[in-house]
Amino acid sequence: MADQQGTEFIRRDTFLPFFRPDLGEAELAAVTEVLRSGWLTYGPKVREFGDACGRYLDVPHAVPVASASAGLLVGLKALGVEPGDEVVLPSLTFIATLGAVVHCGARPVLADIDPSNLGLDPAAFEAAITPRTKAVIPVHLAGHPCRIEEIGAIARRHGIRVMEDAAHAFGAQVRGRRLAGLSDATVFSFYATKCITSGDGGLVTTCDPEVARRVQVLSFHGMDGNAWQRYTDKGRWYYEIVEFGWKLHLGDPAAALGMVQLARADAFMARRTEIAARFSRELAGLPGLTLPVAADWCTHAWHLFAVRVDRALIDGGRDGLIADLTANRIGSSVHFIPLHYHPVFREAGREFAPLLGQTERYFDEAVSLPLFPSMTDDEIDDVVTVVRESLRRRCR
Ligand SMILES: *Cc1c(COP(=O)(O)O)cnc(C)c1O
Repeated sequence: MADQQGTEFIRRDTFLPFFRPDLGEAELAAVTEVLRSGWLTYGPKVREFGDACGRYLDVPHAVPVASASAGLLVGLKALGVEPGDEVVLPSLTFIATLGAVVHCGARPVLADIDPSNLGLDPAAFEAAITPRTKAVIPVHLAGHPCRIEEIGAIARRHGIRVMEDAAHAFGAQVRGRRLAGLSDATVFSFYATKCITSGDGGLVTTCDPEVARRVQVLSFHGMDGNAWQRYTDKGRWYYEIVEFGWKLHLGDPAAALGMVQLARADAFMARRTEIAARFSRELAGLPGLTLPVAADWCTHAWHLFAVRVDRALIDGGRDGLIADLTANRIGSSVHFIPLHYHPVFREAGREFAPLLGQTERYFDEAVSLPLFPSMTDDEIDDVVTVVRESLRRRCR
């Protein structure tokens, strides 16, 4: 990637990070309280947090896990993915989506995106299906739901299991329903930068009690049911290992933090939506810039505000805009480097997926602007000013 020279247009005293977590006294108090309780790891708070998430998302089973990466792995295992199976996923996602497939011993098959929502293109998914396709992992990129209903219908026709990577989309809706119970399993992230945070943390939701049970067991060494209770007054020392699992459960301090953040989820989403609306209004109509648009059938979680910069019209393209943002002390990011560009994918001898044109074009043009609930109006103004000025000067 060519290092570009940026120009300073405004004077910022401090760096505006790409993301700044919003943690208040309530979060500090909740974590302190749980530390005083003596439950440092898996305990009653994890249960409470899972139940509260389930109620919020309106789904019968919600199992907290150590991270979304962990949830994707145990979720895929719980759906029965085995060595030799094929799993379809978009190339435009974080490495964790691919890692889950590879660590199950399955063969990843990368498919292209629908550029209108950046998620897996249903037609590309269907074209990638073979008799060995066992599962598909649609990703709701940036918080915009992908065309999950169409993907689900294709999967049902072919007997393929669906696990959604909703790491960006906690609270996003499709036709008035929050993502969570639409597929065999849905995985959320509570990583520091995501919609709500527990530090590190994740959640697997499902309507299928058997999937929920296996996620629970696989994330706790393969121990049966109520093993966590063995240190309580209700507990017994005896437990059984029913299959080989991992240690990928959440802990009480993280769950306590997550409980407070969950209570703020609607307020966070409202503020994210407001910031996105301001960006959309104030950056509209700039030559060479394409803005994200929410489809009318969904509610966007606005985890990211990713714009596209046309290289033919803007000198330096996306990298030029990033250089100017950096010169003005404004953070930015790119989501994501396509999976098939990473050496690990090539070195593993995977077949090169030839039909990823939309993914490659998107990656070449994309930049994510800062967007987080505690962003001030002055900070939003600075981002708008720098983007407008950068594009004005760089317009050919
Ligand atoms: C962040 C992210 C993950 C992983 O989440 P963790 O909780 O950090 O493990 C998975 N998929 C996508 C698309 C992500 O952005």
